[in-house]
Amino acid sequence: MSGNDQPEVNIGLVGHVDHGKTTLVQALSGAWTDQHSEEMKRGISIRLGYADATFRQCPDVDEPECFTVEEECPDGSESEPIRTVSFVDAPGHETLMATMLSGASLMDGAVLVVSASEPVPQPQTEEHLMALDIIGIDNIVIAQNKVDLVDGERARENYEEIQEFVAGTVAEDAPVVPVSAGQNVNMDLLIQAIEEEIPTPDRDPDADPRMHVARSFDINKPGTTAAELAGGVLGGSLVEGELAVDDAIEIRPGREVEEGGQSEYVPIETTIRSLQAAGDSVETATPGGLLGIGTGLDPSLTKGDALAGRLAGPPGSLPPTWQSFTMSVELLDRVVGADEADGEIDEISTGEPLMMTVGTATTVGAVTSARSGECEVNLKRPVCAEPGAKIAINRRIGARWRLIGVGTLTD
Ligand code: GDP
Ligand code: MG
Repeated sequence: MSGNDQPEVNIGLVGHVDHGKTTLVQALSGAWTDQHSEEMKRGISIRLGYADATFRQCPDVDEPECFTVEEECPDGSESEPIRTVSFVDAPGHETLMATMLSGASLMDGAVLVVSASEPVPQPQTEEHLMALDIIGIDNIVIAQNKVDLVDGERARENYEEIQEFVAGTVAEDAPVVPVSAGQNVNMDLLIQAIEEEIPTPDRDPDADPRMHVARSFDINKPGTTAAELAGGVLGGSLVEGELAVDDAIEIRPGREVEEGGQSEYVPIETTIRSLQAAGDSVETATPGGLLGIGTGLDPSLTKGDALAGRLAGPPGSLPPTWQSFTMSVELLDRVVGADEADGEIDEISTGEPLMMTVGTATTVGAVTSARSGECEVNLKRPVCAEPGAKIAINRRIGARWRLIGVGTLTD
């Protein structure tokens, strides 16, 4: 692929809180993704926790024992890299569902972590599986974790519970791999299952590049002189095509400008001055993992995530910016993951406010017209998106925004 260790596939880690997602990522990559605030090299970090892992194979060793993340094999020989994957450690808490969904739109597959030491399903196990189901992510591996805490009989019962729970869902045929992330047990089997179930997607290197901007920064220390000022930095995920240093890019919807009390969004154009992938400077970036783009923009435009939720690509190539749109709507059967009694979901009605996540953009809108299976919304902040884009739809229930369904942008 990219000729270096750039990650080539994004794998979401989902499942109930404390079931071992972060421990599993750590066992596979040596990174601790919960340190969301720890800045990566050169001031690039991300709200969604990303961690890269290079899967390797020991020569002359049978499957599955040959699969490892260690460079040195038990027999002293050196392992060979297979590919580098990027794990997206989705937040486990239900109030972060929208973040999880916007992350999920950037996932090529998922590992659903289920603890063997608790009854199945726990609320977020169910909620996250439903999210995978509605987003249509069907490359799934189930990690039955913490098997060190249960005896053989309980492990088998739990395995049956998992099978019963996923029947009829997008994870129906997913392999269930018993592991202990904490004790480093069966990681070889898990790597093998991921290699088989979550292939690197076929990508067209000539497609117009599309970068979902998840964060933006000003990396300059206070007091930096104008001459030394580094340009604004964008962090996010390239989902299509390739980007290279010196490429021109356009960012939409761009920046907000006020004119006569009216606010308007103006697309921004700039040049890529540097690229960071997997913590290294690169000349060319391909899809997978987290990408940082150093631009020629005035850093005041990018500071404090000012450009989060935007789409970037070659000037003139980006899809439309929508101030209002029509979406087809599929409502969930009920509100899930609720601590109060799970509620029925009423049809969307004209006039009600909704919160929508499209790619990495989250925006509030008012429903201007609701029909059965379809509605029109007027957005507070516009979004740039391809017709056909998936939209996570949230309604205010009690004190919180709750996921009630998924939309597809029609026009
Ligand atoms: P997350 O909320 O899903 O990210 O869960 P964490 O990775 O933070 O793990 C929650 C707790 O479970 C921590 O105390 C871990 O040390 C523990 N844990 C994770 N995996 C295992 C395991 O395989 N066996 C045991 N015994 N404990 C584990
Ligand atoms: Mg965690």
